[in-house]
Amino acid sequence: MNYEPVIGLEVHIEMLTKSKMFCSCPVVDSVSAEPNSAVCPICAGHPGTLPVLNETVVDFALRVATALGCRINPVSIFARKNYFYPDLPKGYQISQYEEPLAVEGQIFIGEKLIRIRRVHLEEDTGKLTHVDGRGTAESAENPVESQNRRAPTGGYSLVDLNRAGVPLLEIVTEPDFHSAEDVRAYAELLRALVRYLGVNSGDLEKGVMRVEPNISVRPVGTETLGTKVEIKNLNSFRALERGVAYEISRQIQLIEAGGAVAQETVGWDEAKQSTYSQRSKEDAHDYRYFPEPDLPPLVVSESWMNRVRASLPELPWERYKRFRADYGLNHGEAWGLVSEKAAGEYFQSVLGAGGGAVRTVYAWVTGELFSLMNTSGYGFESGKLPPQEMAALLKLLADGKINQNTAKNVLAEMFASGASAESIVAARGLAQVSDAGFIAQIVAETLRENPHELESYRAGKVTVANFLFGQVMKKAAGKANPQVVRAELERRLKE
Ligand code: ADP
Ligand code: MG
Ligand code: ZN
Repeated sequence: MNYEPVIGLEVHIEMLTKSKMFCSCPVVDSVSAEPNSAVCPICAGHPGTLPVLNETVVDFALRVATALGCRINPVSIFARKNYFYPDLPKGYQISQYEEPLAVEGQIFIGEKLIRIRRVHLEEDTGKLTHVDGRGTAESAENPVESQNRRAPTGGYSLVDLNRAGVPLLEIVTEPDFHSAEDVRAYAELLRALVRYLGVNSGDLEKGVMRVEPNISVRPVGTETLGTKVEIKNLNSFRALERGVAYEISRQIQLIEAGGAVAQETVGWDEAKQSTYSQRSKEDAHDYRYFPEPDLPPLVVSESWMNRVRASLPELPWERYKRFRADYGLNHGEAWGLVSEKAAGEYFQSVLGAGGGAVRTVYAWVTGELFSLMNTSGYGFESGKLPPQEMAALLKLLADGKINQNTAKNVLAEMFASGASAESIVAARGLAQVSDAGFIAQIVAETLRENPHELESYRAGKVTVANFLFGQVMKKAAGKANPQVVRAELERRLKE
């Protein structure tokens, strides 16, 4: 029998506002900040304290929900989700349940429509680090998973409340995905979106964006959904794609062998490249949701919604379409530039500053420049090599003032020193020589110095021409215009 995978996604996004959701503590980096350095009685859950909603949180959430084409609820309700855990000192998490901030959005993966079920606000919990009897800490960088683990026997657990009360946005899709590739494409697009909107860094490794796929399979042609398994602890796009693919084939094999899928939550084991059971449906919590009595209903006025809509930047999928239509880039090229906002903007700025033909600018930005950035570790945010400078370099190349090879060397030097292309070319005497008299002279010299090669060329070994070309270029210290050299060399060889 053939099976069809069915997948729905829950994504949690930390909103990188200056302060937390209900208090004035700063939102700090969960990996580098001193534990419990950004904590107050409100986010530490002291009894009798009162939460006050940070409006920027709502603004950020509205940006995302609006970009996803959601219907915004004019009135949404905060609810208490009750459960006990050491990283949740209040004993409940403030979330939204029956009346979420927004519902019924959509996003396209290629031609495929993915329906967004809901987008709601909630607060993050703290983070636990489990330490064994010898004092060795388990990786604290699995924020998703820490609640599903325990301190090893003889060990203990540390709690860091820096993250408690950090605003989270949960984005839930309908079960509209049917492949691991589409799941990954969606997560990548969502990452680009939240980065464009300035609400999140999109750093899966740091756990500021957490993607949890729910996966089931069903016989092709049937409608009823199969039993779903949720994967947690996926901290890269690769892990996400592999985890989903693994789970799909595990479920199909299980059913083919006469078994049944059990509803459970599983973790992804990066080392083993497989999933393992974390908790089954039987442990499912009854959260006893009820409306949060300390917070009024959240009212979003028409004018607020309009203000947010008017403030949205060009969105990744809009830019993607424009890059394909206006620049004739193919899917991979356009997405490569769009997925990193700064890369697309840089590319456009180089074109705008007179960098030349689209293909040339594309090749230099994604080729030489990307590789300089990769090896140096300086990205676009470093401001090294402003686009106008790149355009100036490409103009020297297009005008024949320098050749391709020289341009590469000059680019590396510009990147390292910040000097302009022109000043480097002038200072190092790198300008390309197109002067016919000069080139005729070095070609003649080269032929005189290589009589054997000349002879064998004339005897029919035409590949020798390449060697001779190399000799001429060397003589000219790489600065001769290669087209002029080739033409002159050819003329002399055919004499
Ligand atoms: P839960 O309450 O367990 O979180 P929900 O019904 O709210 O479950 O759905 C959570 C996510 O799982 C949604 O993205 C939804 O589309 C997806 N989902 C629900 N049922 C299935 C299923 N049988 N197969 C695949 N995905 C599912
Ligand atoms: Mg769930
Ligand atoms: Zn606080």
